[in-house]
Amino acid sequence: MDDRFDCIIVGGGIAGLSAAMVLARADAKFLLVERGEFCGAKNVSGGVLWGYDLARLVPNYWEGDDPGYERFVNHRRLSFLDESSAFSMDFKSATFDETPYMGVTVLRAKFDSWLAAQVQNVIDAGTHAEDSILATDILVDALEKDGDRVVGIRTGDEVFYADCVILAEGVNNLLTRQIGIEPAYVPADHVAVGVKEVIALPEATLRDRFQLSGLSGLTNEFVGAATSGVEGGGFLYTNRDSVSVGLVLAMADLRDKKRKPYDLLNEFKAHPAIADMLSGGEVLEYSAHVVSTGDVAAVPSRLYDNGVLVAGEAAHLLLNSGKAIQGMDYAMRSGILAAGTVLSAREAGDASADTLAAYQQALDDSYLMKDLRSFSDAVQLFHSPTMYQKVPNILCDFGRDFFGIDNEPSSKAADMLKASVKKHASLWEMAKLGYKAARSL
Ligand SMILES: Cc1cc2nc3c(=O)[nH]c(=O)nc-3n(C[C@H](O)[C@H](O)[C@H](O)COP(=O)(O)OP(=O)(O)OC[C@H]3O[C@@H](n4cnc5c(N)ncnc54)[C@H](O)[C@@H]3O)c2cc1C
Repeated sequence: MDDRFDCIIVGGGIAGLSAAMVLARADAKFLLVERGEFCGAKNVSGGVLWGYDLARLVPNYWEGDDPGYERFVNHRRLSFLDESSAFSMDFKSATFDETPYMGVTVLRAKFDSWLAAQVQNVIDAGTHAEDSILATDILVDALEKDGDRVVGIRTGDEVFYADCVILAEGVNNLLTRQIGIEPAYVPADHVAVGVKEVIALPEATLRDRFQLSGLSGLTNEFVGAATSGVEGGGFLYTNRDSVSVGLVLAMADLRDKKRKPYDLLNEFKAHPAIADMLSGGEVLEYSAHVVSTGDVAAVPSRLYDNGVLVAGEAAHLLLNSGKAIQGMDYAMRSGILAAGTVLSAREAGDASADTLAAYQQALDDSYLMKDLRSFSDAVQLFHSPTMYQKVPNILCDFGRDFFGIDNEPSSKAADMLKASVKKHASLWEMAKLGYKAARSL
């Protein structure tokens, strides 16, 4: 085998595999290197994969005998918690039952290896079946450079060369930092810690408890007492015969408050609203992973250089605007755009930074950077103590008054709300918050 490739992809997560699929479909000759024993072995998501890009990469993916996803999402809930109560916004729609699905829950070990198998099928059908490789259990130690140009990768004593390298190494982006695209020091407020358990429940229990039918699924995000006063939020997503439950916690606040993520997860699971959803379940798996906060300021100003592009969370491409975490669809789209740029560079016979700059432009033109910029205020708002502490307390106080019926004369709803606000904040503070929320969301 000639060990020069059109492209080498570092990382077999969502960004890397999406790039690989585009290259495989264009019959390019590429090498994808994943350090895990198999694609997905090291990866953690909540996780809901949003948007339609999966259907573009693997048309009709929902039809196969063994689709890689768990459930499609047709029911969404956002809950504000105080110590004893949950005040929720709930939305269910039959329009979300239509294919292609807008969101599917996934378990990464299964999903990533399924996606890798789809890529392998396309490779096998192409003319580079012998030469394009998905290699697992191999750590890329360094990038190989010739002057200021990236020309390949180094793993142990071996060097592999390519016209272009796509760094899709995820949030622990050591290689991206090695070549100076991101500074070596990453501020604590650019990253969070995600902790998650997968809890088995019989399918029939899941169906009854969460009102599911067929492969429909529920997503529930949580704000407030979910994180016991630490900046962050919680989630619960239904899988086929399990639920994924977890927290995403701001690294700096955890450090300052000296709290341990696992203790917080146990407290979350013991909250009356959550405990009821989990009762009878058996913990199958626990995982923890760093995750970007979704702050646009964390995205390096330039995601390309001579012979190299950075995709997915390696570039901190993730949005967490309160509605959902969008890291996987951002990884997928950026992987697709990176591979498209590699193909254009191959056609032009030029993988210099000048040519690869088209990738940055494509990102800027896509929903990724547009949303990251336009919702940057929403990200800040959701990270403010007013939002993750006072608002849930106000809503739960109001909920107890509004929904409680106690053989006493009742106040009007507006008076109940005013009383709840006054207990936890000032009317002025809430008016300012309402104004900011209306402008930023
Ligand atoms: C608890 C939690 C919940 C989340 N929930 C959601 C959710 O519900 N929805 C959503 O969209 N996003 C969610 N995210 C975010 C999402 O998981 C990430 O944004 C997404 O996985 C990023 O994809 P990626 O391909 O860029 O990186 P990754 O999925 O991290 O993949 C990177 C790959 O590169 C490999 N790698 C790294 N370095 C090397 C190297 N030197 N050599 C070889 N291989 C290497 C790794 O092993 C890994 O397989 C969540 C994250 C966490 C932690």
